Amino acid sequence: SRYFTINDHPRGTPERALFELHERELPALADGEARVRNTWLSVDPYMRGRMSGVTTYIEPFALNAPLEGAAIGEVIESRDAAFPVGTRVRHMAGWRDVAQLPGAELEPLPDFKVPEQAYLGVLGMPGMTAWTGLNRIAEMQDGDNVLVSGAAGAVGSLAVQLAKAKGGTVVGIAGSRDKLDWLESRGVKAVGYKGKDAAELTEALQEACPEGFDVYYENVGGICLEAALNTLRVGARIAVCGMIARYNEATPSAGPGNLAMILIRRARMEGFIVFDHWSHYPEFLEEVGPQVESGRLDYEETVEEGLERTPDAFLKLFEGANRGKMLVRP
Ligand code: NDP
Repeated sequence: SRYFTINDHPRGTPERALFELHERELPALADGEARVRNTWLSVDPYMRGRMSGVTTYIEPFALNAPLEGAAIGEVIESRDAAFPVGTRVRHMAGWRDVAQLPGAELEPLPDFKVPEQAYLGVLGMPGMTAWTGLNRIAEMQDGDNVLVSGAAGAVGSLAVQLAKAKGGTVVGIAGSRDKLDWLESRGVKAVGYKGKDAAELTEALQEACPEGFDVYYENVGGICLEAALNTLRVGARIAVCGMIARYNEATPSAGPGNLAMILIRRARMEGFIVFDHWSHYPEFLEEVGPQVESGRLDYEETVEEGLERTPDAFLKLFEGANRGKMLVRP
């Protein structure tokens, strides 16, 4: 099995040399274990946090040990009757080509007629995150005007479409022309943030939605949060899903100077971690799965080929090189 490790805890933007590819012989299967050839690996922004060597809501990655992450693969050898050879499974032993783990850590794939990698994106953790943030945290209502930052990524691209279905004005913030074009193609008003300061971004958001927003779905932080705070309606709800603009900061920058807008607009701001809501995953699948299957909900993916490209795929998340879900085909 070939697998990646990190050799240090990065400060600031991780360097490519942080990641090392190793090879090892896997031991014979123990009773209850299965061997899985991974067909798709997920790289996700939260992995940056796990590289820092501190415990947050999840344990940090250990140095020089196989990295972990969501993956999909096919059972190629099995000593667990529940997962015979040929079963397609999802598990957390990513960043490697062949995984060996107890059957208890394998999950069979749901059976919608979608490509299997959708269970790492729109019908997996990122999709569940978008649905949870909008419905369970921001308590989105019919007709709400909704603003989403990171709007063309894995989470954001489902968030804008779920919001759009509620009938209000939906505005998405994203970084590049092709992302803005994709948003417009889904009926979302697209606003670029690159090259703008908070005042200019505020102005662009006000132009896109003069009445202001009932919901802000936060993926980015920084000037996106500052501008969003300026455009809230009274009683607005902010679901704090992520703050990717900060993940590579060596020293934390100051928060937005206009936080008092929370007070002025009587707004509520609440962070959440999707794993705490995982008992609702079947409900999410029941609602969103058929819409993905029928094509009513669109999803995009960006694929890097080859296990050795996994770190590059991960680092590209911070350059905005992905449209939709970033995946690796090992
Ligand atoms: P994305 O697919 O959205 O990929 C990351 C995107 O973030 C990039 O494509 C880029 O888009 C944007 N970005 C990167 N750096 C910056 C920056 N400095 N400023 C502004 N935008 C930047 O990733 P995900 O959909 O997987 O995750 C989106 C967010 O959701 C992240 O913050 C992540 O941590 C969070 N998350 C939270 C979860 C939870 O349980 N709370 C679960 C899953 C994800 P662009 O070109 O537009 O700049």
